[in-house]
Amino acid sequence: MSLLVVGSIALDDVESPAGRVEDALGGATCYFAVAAQYFTQVRAVGVVGDDFPAEHLDFLAARGIDIAGIAREPGRSFRWGGRYHESLNDRDTLFTELGVFEAFDPTLPESYLDSEYVFLANIHPSLQQRVLEQAVRRRFVAMDTMNFWIEGTREELDHTLARVDALVINDAEAHLLTGTTNLVHAARAIRSMGPETVIIKRGEFGALLFDSQGIFAAPAFPLEEVRDPTGAGDTFAGGFMGALARAGSVDAASLRKAVIYGSAMASFCVERFSLDRLRELTRDEIESRFEAFYTLTRF
Ligand code: AMP
Repeated sequence: MSLLVVGSIALDDVESPAGRVEDALGGATCYFAVAAQYFTQVRAVGVVGDDFPAEHLDFLAARGIDIAGIAREPGRSFRWGGRYHESLNDRDTLFTELGVFEAFDPTLPESYLDSEYVFLANIHPSLQQRVLEQAVRRRFVAMDTMNFWIEGTREELDHTLARVDALVINDAEAHLLTGTTNLVHAARAIRSMGPETVIIKRGEFGALLFDSQGIFAAPAFPLEEVRDPTGAGDTFAGGFMGALARAGSVDAASLRKAVIYGSAMASFCVERFSLDRLRELTRDEIESRFEAFYTLTRF
């Protein structure tokens, strides 16, 4: 099944207690697409500047990701810098340089218009709606957002929320969106805004899915070493949406299985910097970790 992702493509500078990288491949689209391509065919939409290394686009294409929707514009690529603290739960954003991303106006190539599964990564809610208007054959749409849009463009965000099937956000964003820190209340409030399914990510505490069938909890996989949590959320979304598209079903059982695939992919992501761990994964490793989740939670 066809899976479309729209969002940032970045060059990241990241520091954590385990080391640092500069100009590393990042951005929601890249994390999502590389995770999801282990499950299904992925179509990517984004923008890069003329400084963006060709090798990164070559890598995405070599993974079978359709990059016809990635535009190269004159100017600098989107750049983001972050520093993690000892606990790895907290990070400081050191800089955000929008570059060509500031004027990003997602246009789907003709060949993407029949996409059935759609992920709207963290971009302006009006741009998310522009994507929905073009993806006329959409069957299941999930979206992300962030504090900047929740606080600054609430009306547009409410319009987008009313049109999607699932919202995937972290606990702090759920709190900001609903005014409540109780996640059950927050999820209920979000479901009344439009999305039938709400997934709240809780970092090292795992993720909760809320839908008409109730609540499903997935732990975060206990890892001996976490080097770089950057992109874990987008990688989770990539595994989740990829698994759904592969299943060709969005029933309650498929959604729950997909949450475990999302959690498995996110657990790989944080083991190394940037997309380094996601690059070298095998399908066997993914299935083994999926099974490990089963063992971890069965009693
Ligand atoms: P996460 O760790 O899930 O927040 O994702 C981090 C990734 O999102 C990094 O690769 C950044 O390049 C990218 N990113 C950071 N800030 C933004 C933003 N304001 N808009 C879009 N993407 C961003």
